[in-house]
Amino acid sequence: MPIRFYNTLTRREEEFVPLAEGRAGVYCCGPTVYAAPHIGNLRTFFFADTLRRFLEFRGLQVRFVMNLTDVDDKTIRGALRDGVKLDAYTQPFIDSLFRDFDRLGIRHADAHPRATHYVPQMVDIIRRLEKRGMAYEADGSVYFDISEFPGYGKLSKVDVSAGRRGERVAADEYDRDDVRDFVLWKGAKPEDEQVGAVWDTPWGPGRPGWHIECSAMAMDELGETFDIHLGGVDLVFPHHEDEIAQSEGATGKPFVRYWLHGEFLLLEGDKMAKSTGNIFNLQDLVERGVKPSAIRYLFLTAHYRSKLNFTFAALESANEAVRRIRGTRTRLRGHPEARDPDPADEPVLHPLADEVLAGFTGAMDADLNTSVALSELHRLASGVNQRLETLGAKPISSAEKQAALDAFERIDGVFGFLALAEREAEVDGDLAAWVEERIAARQAARKSRDFATADAIRAELSARGVTVEDTAQGARWSVTG
Ligand code: AMP
Ligand code: ZN
Repeated sequence: MPIRFYNTLTRREEEFVPLAEGRAGVYCCGPTVYAAPHIGNLRTFFFADTLRRFLEFRGLQVRFVMNLTDVDDKTIRGALRDGVKLDAYTQPFIDSLFRDFDRLGIRHADAHPRATHYVPQMVDIIRRLEKRGMAYEADGSVYFDISEFPGYGKLSKVDVSAGRRGERVAADEYDRDDVRDFVLWKGAKPEDEQVGAVWDTPWGPGRPGWHIECSAMAMDELGETFDIHLGGVDLVFPHHEDEIAQSEGATGKPFVRYWLHGEFLLLEGDKMAKSTGNIFNLQDLVERGVKPSAIRYLFLTAHYRSKLNFTFAALESANEAVRRIRGTRTRLRGHPEARDPDPADEPVLHPLADEVLAGFTGAMDADLNTSVALSELHRLASGVNQRLETLGAKPISSAEKQAALDAFERIDGVFGFLALAEREAEVDGDLAAWVEERIAARQAARKSRDFATADAIRAELSARGVTVEDTAQGARWSVTG
């Protein structure tokens, strides 16, 4: 069975046929680094990571690129407000992005190009567009002439006839009713100079428009035509429409073969957006005791093209599901095994593991149907539970055990929440060891009547969210912070 994806360009589910057999070039629009990502952004990056992991699961060699938008209207505004240079302003947000990726088990891309490092490539595309009569200068900036590109509107299906001929829009973000010539290169303004966001070009000093950045980085990293381009639904227009116009306008070749768009994460029914402040970021959630493994699970329960409403109740059941599946795998790992099992005992787990892997693959092949794929993992876990119950204290054959463990491992190579839950448990274990050591030191200090040290240790524990209670049986501790 082939892999199929819903292609926004054709509005149909299509068989995925990569340009080069056995390989896939994938580009995901990365974050604008003007704030820590919120978990809505993270849902989109998680979706990209899941797609990449699944293509690898299917044996493809994937080159996965995710850019960092480190110069645009919003980053410049932020740097100006804080009175710092652009790169000093964006760096902490880049650092926090990768910290969140690590905590959520989102693998880093093969390349994370930064827009500010790709200006020569942008200039080159704009020159090619000028040569082909698709770009023109006006008010010290350079614009794309949408009337010169017949394919304009093919991705978003915007009504180009409603566009006002010769009118221009200079902002990075604009609405469908604003279909107009868009900016490729912006002539320098005093505030750009102030934050060090100015480059010399044939059109004088200035800085790139947002859309040209992704065309330049994507084509430089993956070639003029590549397989898959991803992003959130809000990027279909104008960002991706404009990327197509600039790239195809410059090269005369198709830019991207499959366009995939992830739906929004909602917070209590509303769009989560940095601009409105209706957000949670990962740090907020971790501080409330939410486990990243539960967030991963929650994301998988909805198809990437469906909206997902984020609630704490849903997170709670996600956490419970992760705990159950992990518990099953741990029990299976610990069950006694024998090379030669009881011949009267019919093995059931290897046929089940094969069925589950086939079911998982089939569901993911169908445009990444993660919720159905997840139900296959539950089927495996139930089968294992039943099997262990039937066996009681009797050993399981090594082959049968291994087949089931391999299926868990392969599926989690794509889903990733079991590995993450195991890492979280280790961290919990590390914390426990540290707390025990500190409590022992505190008891020793108290014994020698060094109350200052004892109090300092209590404060140290409390700073890590640990509360100590002294009882007749000794000190009892819990994590409350
Ligand atoms: P930004 O940092 O604003 O450029 O957004 C980075 C990515 O997150 C883009 O692909 C957006 O489409 C996506 N995104 C923004 N808000 C949400 C949301 N509430 N849910 C899911 N994805 C989002
Ligand atoms: Zn982009």
